[in-house]
Amino acid sequence: MSNQSYDVIIIGAGVIGTAIGYELARKGRNTLNIDMMPAAGYGSTSNSCAIIRLYYSTLDGCSMAYEGYHYWKNWRHYLNAPKTEELAKFHDCGTLIMKTKQNGGLEKQLSHIDKLDIPYQHLSNSQIVERYPFYDVSSFGDAKTLNDPGFGKPDGGEISGAIFFPYGGYISDPQFATKNIQSACEREGGEFKFSSTVEQITTKNGAVIGVVLEDGTRIDAPVVINVAGPHSQKINVLAGAELDMNISTRALRQEVAHVKAPKGVDYASLASVISDSDIAVYSRPEIGNNILIGSEDPPCDEHVYVDPDDYDKNFTDQWTLQAQRMCQRIPSLGIPTKIKGCVDLYDVTEDWIPIYDKSCIDGYYMACGSSGNQFKNAPVAAKAMAELIDYCESGADHDVNPMQYRLDTIQRKIDMGTFSRLREINQDSTFSVLG
Ligand SMILES: Cc1cc2nc3c(=O)[nH]c(=O)nc-3n(C[C@H](O)[C@H](O)[C@H](O)COP(=O)(O)OP(=O)(O)OC[C@H]3O[C@@H](n4cnc5c(N)ncnc54)[C@H](O)[C@@H]3O)c2cc1C
Repeated sequence: MSNQSYDVIIIGAGVIGTAIGYELARKGRNTLNIDMMPAAGYGSTSNSCAIIRLYYSTLDGCSMAYEGYHYWKNWRHYLNAPKTEELAKFHDCGTLIMKTKQNGGLEKQLSHIDKLDIPYQHLSNSQIVERYPFYDVSSFGDAKTLNDPGFGKPDGGEISGAIFFPYGGYISDPQFATKNIQSACEREGGEFKFSSTVEQITTKNGAVIGVVLEDGTRIDAPVVINVAGPHSQKINVLAGAELDMNISTRALRQEVAHVKAPKGVDYASLASVISDSDIAVYSRPEIGNNILIGSEDPPCDEHVYVDPDDYDKNFTDQWTLQAQRMCQRIPSLGIPTKIKGCVDLYDVTEDWIPIYDKSCIDGYYMACGSSGNQFKNAPVAAKAMAELIDYCESGADHDVNPMQYRLDTIQRKIDMGTFSRLREINQDSTFSVLG
């Protein structure tokens, strides 16, 4: 028996699901976000490095990130939050990306960045060392595993400088940022149901009609959106929506190392976010003079795809590998004996570009496959999803005539077909977390 009904059910209350709830509630829809966790942003969002950077391998990717940057920069305005409400902080420290053999000196990315008039600066190796006196700018060639005899040995050359983007940084508490969006959504009348697992998605005559929870509660809605993060593939199977998908999603295990900055270095006030494909890691300052070190997933590393309900949450040698790779650049970095950081999951597509789309079931949509790189885009993706739902529900065929979404701040249109489940694998991708 149905006891409740809504205009829209959003499965998931991570940063993207919550933002979609907010945008739809703002449009006057009666929304319900359902999450099996006890609070918003407790899924993979909680362990996100939450880096806000502007470089992607496609023009649409860069455009979305540039638009998104403005939301984080004007967070209170985006949320329409009262002056007294405490909000997550955007550390606007800029991002530095090394020019390496692996990324072709960034020529492709810069051609997109130039089209968008995004400011940046070329830094020579000596300018890098001026900023970071503890840095070694040797190049190390293709990434290697720890047991490779060549691991950590410079190849005789140097990296080719770097690009510094003053616009960018990180959010130090991604879960709290999601909580901010939840409050904004609730102010617009959106509702949340926590500690509740969606177990069935019900359909009738090829259209979605609602969901059934683990405890048997049936909730009706003519629109259901899968924003289940690393569980997205399981949710699509529940709906029978995977049948026409050319791009799929899988849960990929990730470790992030959390180490103390080198002794005597005030890293937080000095450093920006750094992406370094020569040592195959990205990093950012973390509260308490620490450094977070994530992997850029080089081909030599094992890619461990898992069941999101059953995977190893303990650190492995991957943690040590990432920390040691960072030591190639910062030889004075100590490797602690007591290891800290996190183990979590990306929801990865074949080309590491997300799916923001409808499905083969009327009324059933998906915002998934965020591939470790969509925290920054959550507000923009949510706005685009809300508009896509209006577009499709008013009878337009997005598969045939993809919606063009206008990015209001940077005044550009993006083709939402770029994020279609039916697309061919995008060969322009880096096929890594960089998107
Ligand atoms: C280690 C790590 C580092 C990252 N670093 C960055 C970064 O620096 N920059 C960046 O832009 N992005 C980054 N990302 C990616 C970014 O965090 C994600 O793209 C984003 O958080 C995804 O948000 P989401 O709302 O789609 O998913 P999630 O936060 O995973 O939320 C999905 C929710 O769905 C719920 N759910 C699943 N199944 C069910 C069910 N059956 N019933 C009810 N609820 C269900 C889960 O409980 C979960 O809360 C990183 C991700 C990870 C894991």
